[in-house]
Amino acid sequence: MRLDIISIFPGYFAPLEISLLGKARRRGLIDVHVHDLREWTHDRHRTVDDTPYGGGPGMVMKPDPWGEALDTLAPPASPDVVPRLIVPTPSGRPFTQAMAAELAAEPWLIFACGRYEGIDARVVEEARTRMRVDEVGIGDYVLAGGESAVLVIVEAVGRLVPGVLGNADSVVDDSFAPGAMETLLEGPVYTKPPVWRDRAVPEILLSGDHGAIARWRRDQALRRTVANRPDLAAAFDPAQLDDRDRRV
Ligand code: SAM
Repeated sequence: MRLDIISIFPGYFAPLEISLLGKARRRGLIDVHVHDLREWTHDRHRTVDDTPYGGGPGMVMKPDPWGEALDTLAPPASPDVVPRLIVPTPSGRPFTQAMAAELAAEPWLIFACGRYEGIDARVVEEARTRMRVDEVGIGDYVLAGGESAVLVIVEAVGRLVPGVLGNADSVVDDSFAPGAMETLLEGPVYTKPPVWRDRAVPEILLSGDHGAIARWRRDQALRRTVANRPDLAAAFDPAQLDDRDRRV
């Protein structure tokens, strides 16, 4: 998978050199290219923003450098693979695990990191004429820029790229995993020692009874979802619930 990230703060993406994604890059599973938007400016001050039409506070990112950046990375007449453009914005579609899985299947993603009051709307409008564009919000709050949102999206997507995780099964029981757990949060997890500061690991986890352990984990997942995310619990598919689930 190829990822191109355009930002006025390319240094922000240093964390992509470390941990799981850094390893995936070194193994050639993910090919990341970070670009400085100012490379596509032509004035002495390398200006990327201007005052908003219609008035109001703040500045807006100018369309010219963005247009040139996208033309350079994905030339309009190119017959090759067409990238999918991801534009982080609080007014976008909510980013979810399902969207992460969808993006992990793409061969090429371009990320456009906004700053200030965002990017001139014509950039997305024009890009839509020649590539798939998704405006994506990572939560109901406002960040100072798209860089941290892109780090979140890239990490969620990158760990789903085949071969990136050592054990592919580890995503199966994750919160929001597709299938039976889709609207379930994962329950608590434990490791050695069996007793720590007088707190014992739940006995059932030491029993070796895989059926009973699976049932206990499901109970815990249901309880946690009801307590922390009543919105997800309200969306449980009744056909997926058995009698014991309903008692939890
Ligand atoms: N005025 C904009 C609004 O209210 O929708 C917010 C602009 S914000 C200060 C600057 C940039 O941060 C945005 O262009 C976007 O790239 C990024 N950003 C801020 N919050 C975000 C969020 N929740 N999800 C994704 N990107 C976000």
